[in-house]
Amino acid sequence: MPDRIYNFSAGPATLPYEVLVQAAKDIVNFNNIGIGLIEMSHRSKEFIAVVDECESLLRELLAIPDNYKILFLQGGASTQFAMVPMNLLQQGKKATYLNTGTWAKKAIKEAKLFGDIDIAYSSEETVFDRVPLPDEYKAAPGAEYLYFVSNNTIYGTQFHQFPETEADLVCDMSSDILSRSIDVSRFGIIFAGAQKNMGPAGCTVVVIREDLLTKTPENVPTMFRYKTHADKGSMFNTPPCFAIYTIGLVLKWLKNMGGLPVMEKLNHDKAELLYSAIDNSDFYRGHAKFDSRSIMNVTFNLPTPELEAKFIREAADLSLNGLKGHRSVGGCRASIYNAFPREGVKKLVEFMNEFEKKNS
Ligand SMILES: *Cc1c(COP(=O)(O)O)cnc(C)c1O
Repeated sequence: MPDRIYNFSAGPATLPYEVLVQAAKDIVNFNNIGIGLIEMSHRSKEFIAVVDECESLLRELLAIPDNYKILFLQGGASTQFAMVPMNLLQQGKKATYLNTGTWAKKAIKEAKLFGDIDIAYSSEETVFDRVPLPDEYKAAPGAEYLYFVSNNTIYGTQFHQFPETEADLVCDMSSDILSRSIDVSRFGIIFAGAQKNMGPAGCTVVVIREDLLTKTPENVPTMFRYKTHADKGSMFNTPPCFAIYTIGLVLKWLKNMGGLPVMEKLNHDKAELLYSAIDNSDFYRGHAKFDSRSIMNVTFNLPTPELEAKFIREAADLSLNGLKGHRSVGGCRASIYNAFPREGVKKLVEFMNEFEKKNS
């Protein structure tokens, strides 16, 4: 693995090395057919096979039931903030949202353009250091759906128990999809930008229960209707070809690793290494409350902002990159998605111990 550093970036984020090598080859000459992957018609039989394989691997790995459609869309996860209420929320109807961080807040702002939004929970007062337990909130009576963000990328918190409610669940899973086994049948819609835990930027995966495809009001434009894309197998217009192809490679890699149960164990093990380093020290302070800690994004502070800057600088000198926290919270953040190697986490923990000895 020549010239690779450990990349703790929150997204776009590290991908399996073998995936990058294969993609580099296929960009120039796909399957030895004499043209590159990103020059190929999206309607060619070669590319249709790429999409079909990507979809069937995703269905297999996440155990997605037959009555759900899988869509590969553009516009990022942020477009879904509007597309969800545009399709599911009729005028005068209500939806419940859980405000657990920046991405939830942005989704709430968009949803308010379309209907009556009930915010059943917020941890904003404590800088989003936790997510709620199921008994700490209720969906509004008659709510069309309950919306939540399963992993709060910026604050390093994660739902370990999903909401239990009559309303359909709509979940932004951008930063923890495919990190653990889930029961898809509990959700109405799951969506995720690819660039955290699935592939490169440019594609948003939407998993939607079929009966929801017919709820869209008449005045929603064609490109913003889920049914448009579901009816055409994500080929209504040119799909994000390169991103879909690369997601397919990542899914193959994930399947070879043993699938989600194996990945979930590896992820817990990596996160545990970091959290024990934080817990065994008075120098490092975790941001997230114990029960809400994320296994994908580990957020922590040092005694002063000056020490944090020095920590990030010296870590980068050792090829440990991307540890600066999001600009809205500061501090440090180690993003350790599926493809992030355990050796890199161990190296970070060694560096943390050394740095503490020298600077406390
Ligand atoms: C990164 C992120 C987003 C935004 O994704 P874009 O594809 O940049 O729009 C939304 N939600 C969560 C949870 C994220 O981590």
